[in-house]
Amino acid sequence: YAHTPDALENVLKTMKDTPKDAKIVSHRLMLRAGMIRQMSAGLYTWLPLGLRVLKKIEQIVREEQDRAGFHEVLMPTIQSADLWEESGRYDAYGPEMLRIKDRHDADLLYGPTNEEVITDIFRREVQSYKDLPLNLYHIQWKFRDEIRPRFGLMRGREFLMKDGYSFDIDGDAARRMYQRVMRSYLHTFKRFGVTAIPMRADTGPIGGDLSHEFLIQAETGESDIFFDARLKDLEVYANPERDVAEAYEALTQLYARTDETHDPALFESVPEDMRVQSKGIEVGHIFNFGTKYSAPMGATVQTADGTQAAVHMGSYGIGVSRIAAALIEASHDDNGIIWPEEVAPFDVGLISLKPGDEACEAACAKLEAMLAAKGKSVLIDDRDERPGGKFADMDLIGLPRQIIVGPRGLAQGKVEIKNRKTGEKAEVDLDHVLATLYS
Ligand code: ATP
Ligand code: MG
Repeated sequence: YAHTPDALENVLKTMKDTPKDAKIVSHRLMLRAGMIRQMSAGLYTWLPLGLRVLKKIEQIVREEQDRAGFHEVLMPTIQSADLWEESGRYDAYGPEMLRIKDRHDADLLYGPTNEEVITDIFRREVQSYKDLPLNLYHIQWKFRDEIRPRFGLMRGREFLMKDGYSFDIDGDAARRMYQRVMRSYLHTFKRFGVTAIPMRADTGPIGGDLSHEFLIQAETGESDIFFDARLKDLEVYANPERDVAEAYEALTQLYARTDETHDPALFESVPEDMRVQSKGIEVGHIFNFGTKYSAPMGATVQTADGTQAAVHMGSYGIGVSRIAAALIEASHDDNGIIWPEEVAPFDVGLISLKPGDEACEAACAKLEAMLAAKGKSVLIDDRDERPGGKFADMDLIGLPRQIIVGPRGLAQGKVEIKNRKTGEKAEVDLDHVLATLYS
């Protein structure tokens, strides 16, 4: 049966007023554009437009994880406290952990991270070095009872995270995997149209001896960052095929730290005109922690010479829902969001200036069909509203391309196209729209 176009009035109630308690631009714009609504502190519903963005971010992360040699699984959100007793983190984790009792008085918790659960799976399923290396990930909701949930999705209490885990036979193999993931992350963030810089980090409650955080430079970021400007121009970001060890070497030679690990004396050794002190948003965090969980939890394998050895592990997080907000911080103007092509909720926004007009409706239907045939998703605005309001809403939601269809242009067989990012507009023949938009 006939395809029903996605109409703006069905997916969106934009807000004219600036929400008062939203302090940063991404939070304001996500509320105004009708992407999310808050239920209570740090808990949000994803409305259709927001969910489409979240799914696209998730899919890119998934593709890049698969490419880096990880296999996708899905662990439960609710975890058994017993596992955390075994690792010794149940008491250590503190009030950020949401602790739950079931009807049998068993202690459960809503997972803030998954090292224990994955280590438990490993010890049950894998017994031999022949099954290594093994890399697993999932994309699952986490809960952390943050003391100050704020900035919308940036610091929610429930948030979507990709967490990956690697299992290797020894420390060398584990470190090589760590480097491979670092390389893979650079490429993942590049696909979102941003540069995330790996910065040497504290290992915190996850533990271990080697850790990097990935930060996007942004004025509204919560972390103070200090780095060598040359890091942003490294060729390693552009070339995904580059040798892993070489890329790692290039990245880790230059100074890049957050306030937690910042060393002013070392920073002084960066040439003065290359020293950048700024703010950043943490979008990813990777850890190599050896046998910190495998040893106490008994995740061992039989080695080639017949002995038992604890596996060497790493864990690798990406803040999927935080990225939606971070991308808006990195890409917006006074009129609203400017989505990078890869994550835009729709490819094209189609504005009909005179709904009900026969010529306008026919032109919109034709454009919709042509775009659909090319695999492009379209959002139609055929509300009975003033053109000014429609233009403002379309700019606000930030789809990369707009097509404006009105009776005056159509009389000459023409429609207007607009590039959201550059603001460039052009009058083109109806039949040339696709070629012009995607030349
Ligand atoms: P932060 O320092 O921002 O509190 P974290 O170091 O506690 O983060 P990790 O345990 O490293 O977080 O989690 C992996 C990723 O999950 C982070 O890099 C971040 O992108 C994301 N993340 C962590 N906490 C939140 C949160 N409260 N809301 C949204 N995303 C989060
Ligand atoms: Mg972190």
